[in-house]
Amino acid sequence: MLQPVSVGHKNLSDYTHIVGWPLIDEIRELSAPLAGLRVLHLSATAFGGGVSEILYTLAPLMRDVGLECDWQVIYGREEFFNATKLMHNALQGSPQDLTDEQWATWLQYNEMNARELSEDWDVIIVHDPQPAAVISFVPEKARSWVWQCHIDLSTPNQATLAHLLPHLEHYPTSLFHLEGYVPDGMNGRVHVVPPAIDPLAPKNMALSPDDAVYVCNQFGLDVDRPLVCQVSRFDPWKDPLGVIDAYRLVKGEFPEVQLALVGAMAADDPEGWDFFNATIAHAEGDPDIHILNNFNNVGSVEVNAFQSHSDVLVQKSTREGFGLTVSEAIWKARPMVAGNVGGIPLQIKDGESGYLVETVEECAERIGGILRDPGLGIDLGKRGKEHVRAHFLMPRLVRDWLRIFGQEST
Ligand code: UDP
Repeated sequence: MLQPVSVGHKNLSDYTHIVGWPLIDEIRELSAPLAGLRVLHLSATAFGGGVSEILYTLAPLMRDVGLECDWQVIYGREEFFNATKLMHNALQGSPQDLTDEQWATWLQYNEMNARELSEDWDVIIVHDPQPAAVISFVPEKARSWVWQCHIDLSTPNQATLAHLLPHLEHYPTSLFHLEGYVPDGMNGRVHVVPPAIDPLAPKNMALSPDDAVYVCNQFGLDVDRPLVCQVSRFDPWKDPLGVIDAYRLVKGEFPEVQLALVGAMAADDPEGWDFFNATIAHAEGDPDIHILNNFNNVGSVEVNAFQSHSDVLVQKSTREGFGLTVSEAIWKARPMVAGNVGGIPLQIKDGESGYLVETVEECAERIGGILRDPGLGIDLGKRGKEHVRAHFLMPRLVRDWLRIFGQEST
């Protein structure tokens, strides 16, 4: 029932020219005593959203440095994902908690998946709340367990958190993206480690301007007119409706401007389609608003092309665990205007390497400022790219995990 995910091969040495020798050497030193460590990543989906994005690179790089690393996805049906989506929203602050029946469904699926787990792991890393209760049923299946939280727990629905905490308390180690996300009552070792992007993945690898134009052209964009773009799931917290409102304000001054809203639909996100339709309705048939998703053949290379070709990238989130799309966008040396929430301020220094905004009006003003002064956009983009290089590329995350494994085995 648990699905193994095939992650292919990646070589750490391929990253040397991007991150430099010292980090690669440090990773080699840390990994030597850990050779053969049996590590399992357990997550809710292999498609859509930040967790799967990270694991497609983290897992093969862990293998490349000598660990025996696998990734498996838990089994769940609609009733389970309806419950976990509610839980996700509640943990990020929504007032609606799960019903008793939904909590029971969540636990049942966790128990079912727990029974299916194979044994003898050195470390099982459980990602996010969906499979978080597996440990409660089969603690003996790993020598050590880690819970990694990828969401914004700064203002959780307390009733939902109280229900989850007894399960989280079993974990000897946990990871959060920000200090402010660590809830009271976490036991054991708590680490604060932000995630990272893969600069060599098709979504982030260097694409020539001509290639980017060629791809954008195929999706009906006018490549000679300004483009503003947001890449993210169709989710209320990502505020695509607010992006449309900001675009309308910008359009007053720049009638030529186009907007692309690009969003993958995740397998564990039943709400996604409703919100996708709401976004289309909000666009009111404007031919300069392009709303695209993975069912229109928009994959990683296309996302890369949209980001590389855009004049301004937006991530107008109102809640954000980390916001990988921000580092992905900045890595293309494009200027970004983004919500001042969650992990976004870690990635953008306001006015230096992009802009942080609170409202639709502010967002529109910043987009307009960059469109008026393309030199400003180039400077913001260049500084942003160097910030991402220093802090948010995958070899740094591999190093951080190896340090944690080192502590676990002492
Ligand atoms: N993503 C994508 N295609 C899309 C929309 C999103 O590949 O159309 C990817 C995006 O590039 C990023 C991940 O999904 O790697 C989203 O991660 P993020 O941390 O930004 O948000 P989450 O979806 O986890 O809340």
